[in-house]
Amino acid sequence: MEGSTKYKCSICGQEHDEWPALAWDSPFQYNVLTLEDRQALAALDTDFCVIKHPNQTDHFIRASLTQKVNGRCEGLNYGLWVSLSKEKFMDYAGKYGNENADIVHYFGWLCNEIPGYDSTLSIPMNVTTQKGNLRPSVEPHHDFDHPFVRDYYNGIELAEAERRVQELLDVVSKRESDDAE
Ligand SMILES: [Zn+2]
Repeated sequence: MEGSTKYKCSICGQEHDEWPALAWDSPFQYNVLTLEDRQALAALDTDFCVIKHPNQTDHFIRASLTQKVNGRCEGLNYGLWVSLSKEKFMDYAGKYGNENADIVHYFGWLCNEIPGYDSTLSIPMNVTTQKGNLRPSVEPHHDFDHPFVRDYYNGIELAEAERRVQELLDVVSKRESDDAE
C-alpha cells in the first residue's frame, strides 16, 4: 500500500502494514446541522456530543469497533459514535477518566454513515466500557439484518480492508491539499 509504514506483529512475528483508524470526529446528527445550529444547539468534544433540539436532547459518545479481517492478525479499527439514553450517557460521563471504573454495558444506536453500505444509521449496538481510559468498544446486535452486521461477524477480506484504508488516506490527502490552497 502506498505510503504505509510497517511494524512487526506481536502475534505472528511477520511484518504488517500499519493501518490508521477509520474515525469520525462527530456523529452524523451533528454533521448535518448548519454551522449556526451547531453553535446554538450542540456541544462537541473528542468523546461526547449533546444536541439540544427544541423538543428533545440527543446524547452521543465516541466508541471504537474492530472489524475482523480474514487472514490478518489485527482487525480494522473504526472510531464511531453511538447515541445513548440520557441516563447511560450520564453514567458514562461519571466514569470517564477513571481508569478503575467498573466495566458496564449500554445499549446504543450507531450514528455514522460507513462508506460502502446503504445507511448504517440506527444499527443497534452493544456498548462496553473498558478499563484504563480506553474508549468503549461496540459491536452490532448479531440478529440485526444488515450487510455491515454480517461483515462484522463474518470478517472482511484483506483486499477489502486495504481498499477501505486507501479510501480514507485519499480523503485525508485531498483535505490536506485543499487546506494548502
Ligand atoms: Zn501478524
